[in-house]
Amino acid sequence: MPAPDSKSPSTPRASTSSSSAPGKDKGLNFLTSTLTAPVSPVEAALRPLSFADFTGQPKTVERLQVMVGAAKRRGEALNHILLSGPPGLGKTTLAFILGNELGKAVRVTSGPVIEKAGDLAGLLTNLEEGDILFIDEIHRIPKTVEEYLYSAMEDFRLDIMIDQGPNARSVRLSIPRFTLVGATTRAGLLTSPLRSRFTLQTRLDYYNVPTLIGIVQRSCALLKVSIEDGGAKEIATRCRGTPRVANNLINFVRDYAQERANGIITQPVAARALELLEIDAAGLDEMDKRMLRVMAENYRGGPVGMSTIAVAVGEEAETLEEVHEPFLIQEGYLQRTPQGRILTTKGYHAVGLKAATSGDQGSLL
Ligand code: ADP
Repeated sequence: MPAPDSKSPSTPRASTSSSSAPGKDKGLNFLTSTLTAPVSPVEAALRPLSFADFTGQPKTVERLQVMVGAAKRRGEALNHILLSGPPGLGKTTLAFILGNELGKAVRVTSGPVIEKAGDLAGLLTNLEEGDILFIDEIHRIPKTVEEYLYSAMEDFRLDIMIDQGPNARSVRLSIPRFTLVGATTRAGLLTSPLRSRFTLQTRLDYYNVPTLIGIVQRSCALLKVSIEDGGAKEIATRCRGTPRVANNLINFVRDYAQERANGIITQPVAARALELLEIDAAGLDEMDKRMLRVMAENYRGGPVGMSTIAVAVGEEAETLEEVHEPFLIQEGYLQRTPQGRILTTKGYHAVGLKAATSGDQGSLL
């Protein structure tokens, strides 16, 4: 049985490399760099390898277990699956778990890397029967390539044009029955022909605190880090519902505990370390607050477009939309309307301002 590939360190984590982002001090960019950077070896080591090890996302997990069980019983390849949701919630992890549970290899790539039909052909023809092709950020696959994917997913064949001019001819390649697992942070950007070719489309949600406490304790046990219950709870409440953020916070808090305390992550140690990263009690970081402040002070709480906010805070709009906004919306700091983003009363309060009444710009609480 081939072992699943480990995710290449050079695989882009998300479409939005933060390399060109301004203001790269650790506090401001901890979240962005955590959620857009390539996967580190430490992070890969913390990945749950089986459904039994993966906590949270009960609906998605049960749907996947049903599909895996049925595919195994029938001795067929798993049907195609689309996993959507904000970065760091476990889409890649689940793709590897599917591979492990089925005893098949998982090949990892990402939408923007597949530039032409030939790239896709190369990937698909190297698969074996039942293998999983994981395409991260599948909404960023070029349209010209996407059309080839349709016949690959449906009929397991590719009709590729080779040569040009009078010599141009179409060659039909048959490909093994594989499973496409697509992941996207922006399900709404997927075209409907592509979306309709996935048998299961399932969305991952932010994790609740009790589940995250368990994830933090598991990671600390694997890393041999001493943590008290209070420390685990502090990290779990401030990691914005995201296991990847929790794992990265553990790394920093562990260093802090070693350098500024006796090496044990207690609640006060965790709280002080997170303050140093400028992550507040609700998990908001400096960039979240900058966004909220700009909306309150410059745009009277909106409606204002994301590209305008992006220019004002000095970050790429795409990063704000993928990394920051979903959590701010989910927690009720922002609302998204057809006219633009609107700051809620909770959003004003988060930056110490009172909600604006018509005509004023919000005042200090
Ligand atoms: P995504 O592909 O959605 O961006 P990943 O699958 O790469 O997210 O998950 C990021 C990290 O979070 C993984 O390395 C893994 O250690 C951790 N993780 C995600 N989901 C869970 C979970 N349910 N339980 C424990 N750890 C998790």
